[in-house]
This record gives sequence, structure tokens and C-alpha cells, in this order.
Amino acid sequence: MYVNIKKCLLFALKYVNIVLVNSLEKIIMAKVCEACGKGKASGNNVSHSKRRTRRTFDVNLHKKDIVTINGVEKRAYLCTRCVRTSNKHAQ
Ligand SMILES: [Zn+2]
Repeated sequence: MYVNIKKCLLFALKYVNIVLVNSLEKIIMAKVCEACGKGKASGNNVSHSKRRTRRTFDVNLHKKDIVTINGVEKRAYLCTRCVRTSNKHAQ
């Protein structure tokens, strides 16, 4: 009985870990290029009187059908730089 409970607990822990990792990946992948990892950048808005306020710069992401190195076709969010590069090397 003890062994069964232990197994169940281990299984549950593994499952929870997988779910956590998956949700974390989803959080991490937001607004990030899937090819190069380029993400949000921060800087200043500068007014005409040179007053500075903090702002963020989002990456210019586009949804593209790509083929991975393993030959798997999938849809990914790529930055415009990576879209240009993939078009350049397309056969
Ligand atoms: Zn990129």
C-alpha cells in the first residue's frame, strides 16, 4: 500500500511538473521570436522638451509556416529579421 501511494505521489509530482513547465513555456514564449529568442526591449520616450519616460519596444512578430531541422512543419511566431532570413534561404 505504501509503495502504491509513493508511486502515485511521484506520478502526480511529475504530472504537475510537466504542467508547470508547459505553462511556464507559454508565459516565456509570449512576444518572443521562436527562432532567435529576440524579445521585448526597454528604453525611453523622449518628448520635445527632452523629458524621459520609460517605455517598452515589442518585437515585430509574424506568424509563419516553417520547417524545422527535423523536417517537421509547424507554425511559429518569427521576428521580421528571421522571416527575411528564412525567405532568403528558401528553395
Ligand atoms: Zn528572430
